[in-house]
Amino acid sequence: MSLYTGPRCRLCRREGMKLFLKGERCYTKCSLEKRNYPPGMHGQTRPPKLKDYGLRFREKQKAKRIYWLTETQFRRYVDRAEKLPGRTGENLLILLERRLDSVVFRLGFASSRKHARQLVTHGHIMVNDKVVDIPNYEVEIGDVIRVKPDSPVVPMVKEEVAKKGGRCPSWLELDENKLEGRVVGLPEPGMIEVPLNEQLIVEFYSR
Ligand code: SF4
Repeated sequence: MSLYTGPRCRLCRREGMKLFLKGERCYTKCSLEKRNYPPGMHGQTRPPKLKDYGLRFREKQKAKRIYWLTETQFRRYVDRAEKLPGRTGENLLILLERRLDSVVFRLGFASSRKHARQLVTHGHIMVNDKVVDIPNYEVEIGDVIRVKPDSPVVPMVKEEVAKKGGRCPSWLELDENKLEGRVVGLPEPGMIEVPLNEQLIVEFYSR
């Protein structure tokens, strides 16, 4: 199944919440504020109350959309998370956060995960001094992620980092001047700020 290419705001409207898929615009001119109802011709009629399956399905869809993954890619993460020791839901979020595009976003180099993925696939990001253009590259403790010094995106990334005031999660360390981040630990469940109930996702796949 291919990646969704339609209007991103439509996805937020479907989930009934801001998924922050458009970067800066999500903070300034969010269309959900004007049209806070599901898309489609029946969007403004009273939505049906979600029951067991519906709740779990929507939570899974939300996660896929936040991390901008296809069903096949997402399913692969769930399968891997199940095989790891510990709680599957927590493992799943940790694996998703360790993706290189996710880390680039968390370091504040990009305004959205989609934008972060573009930076990676277009070869603007280096890991341990080598260009890595694979968004699902999984970072390890000690990895150094930086913007390629001679890349034309450097001024834009600097601006992005400045907008966020150099904030990043505690498992990452950011050097704003060098546009360089270091993985100082692996994310722990309580550190991952994402509006998801991972347990519902696990329950969806274990039906
Ligand atoms: Fe979602 Fe951003 Fe569009 Fe608002 S502007 S609906 S948060 S993608």
